[in-house]
Amino acid sequence: MHAPNIETLPAAELRQLQEERLGILLTRLGESGSQWWTAKLAGVDLTRSSLQHIPSLPFTVKSEFRDAYPFGMLARPQTEVVRVHASSGTSGKPTIVAYTRSDIEVFAEVNARALACAGGSPDDVIHVAYGYGLFTGGLGIHYGAEKLGAVTVPASGGNAAFQIGLLADLGATGLACTPSFAMLLSERAADMGLLDRINLRWGMHGAEPWSEGFRSKLEQAWGESYDACDIYGLAEVIGPGVAAECREAKGGMHVFEDHFFPEIVDPETGEPVGEGDAGELVITTLTKEAQPVIRYRTGDITRLLPGGCVCGRTSRRISRIEGRVDDMLIIRGINVYPREIESILLSDEAVGGTYAIVVDRRGTLTELNARVEVAHPSLQDRKEEIRRRLETRLAETVRIRVGVEVRDVGTIPRPDMGKAKRVFFQDSEIDPVV
Ligand code: ADP
Ligand code: ZN
Repeated sequence: MHAPNIETLPAAELRQLQEERLGILLTRLGESGSQWWTAKLAGVDLTRSSLQHIPSLPFTVKSEFRDAYPFGMLARPQTEVVRVHASSGTSGKPTIVAYTRSDIEVFAEVNARALACAGGSPDDVIHVAYGYGLFTGGLGIHYGAEKLGAVTVPASGGNAAFQIGLLADLGATGLACTPSFAMLLSERAADMGLLDRINLRWGMHGAEPWSEGFRSKLEQAWGESYDACDIYGLAEVIGPGVAAECREAKGGMHVFEDHFFPEIVDPETGEPVGEGDAGELVITTLTKEAQPVIRYRTGDITRLLPGGCVCGRTSRRISRIEGRVDDMLIIRGINVYPREIESILLSDEAVGGTYAIVVDRRGTLTELNARVEVAHPSLQDRKEEIRRRLETRLAETVRIRVGVEVRDVGTIPRPDMGKAKRVFFQDSEIDPVV
């Protein structure tokens, strides 16, 4: 554990710390002199800073970042800003986010904790293959790995063959990158005959949705002793390091609650959901200086799990992100999250880790099709049987018919940079999966 004093704080003390920090934040925002914050908090009684008053504070949404682009939401003078990053722009124009020196320190701290959750320690060589640059992934994890005291390798994205050589030569023990890139690296390492020379013990994977089926394939691909853990974050809140999964109790990510206060609301009404129910994750940053957020609507669907964990950490956990509000496909009036489909496809042993979902909009009725690959060339002759099995399983769970196409190994494109695209829309005869 990187910060045991904080990470094992009894729940009541953690709540007290959160409350103190919320009070300081509200006072500071009230006095910031910023036009944006004055307007945002008009009518809010800033002295009511107990945690139970959080649901009465206004929400913040992504479009406010776009409207205030680039620096309208600063709560500190621009002279105190030392860095900017941007969101990836998965759902539109990227948003710019700013950090003071203290924000960068928090960013490093929560990522050091996250890496330690996955099993990282100062003895590790950590290979960071998230993109470096405006994207928060690379630099966020990088500072975390250095803070942890590990040997930090800033490999960034792309150039898989070169990266595999580096993993072997430098003796990397920890790998931080998107789950899809980790899969790509494992496949190439196997092709290059270098798997035996790579001794990874754990991986910290996030920035895009993945499933339990994907986790088992990844752990199998890198070998028995590899622990693949989930990490969650978003630029508007800080970047990676909002929550991370411990290797002891996979199945949920510890929220670093002394910095980020989580709530779950109904995405349609904005009302809090029942305890443990799924809904949209909303976060209030308790310590951010340059660009704090109050009740930020992340658009990510998850649920809050109670605190208390075999690893000793006391913070509450969020379950694996089930989907993104704006990822949801509405097919003939039925809501489907691509992740539901992934979890069925990839829980099949005979199927590889790469897949694509095609929303075929050519006809009058929209059709949904999934493409998968066989896990191994030796399964080439069993494609028809796999197809039938998957279609039946999908029919049992997804409320709309999903056609399945089973292909040879290596026939679905694998991106070697950024977030994996899994859903493609077909509006003409041109194959959209490229
Ligand atoms: P963008 O929203 O443009 O992709 P970011 O680069 O800040 O911007 O990415 C944050 C988003 O990435 C989150 O809101 C979430 O949808 C997704 N994400 C991050 N980590 C995970 C994860 N572990 N599982 C699923 N989705 C994730
Ligand atoms: Zn734990």
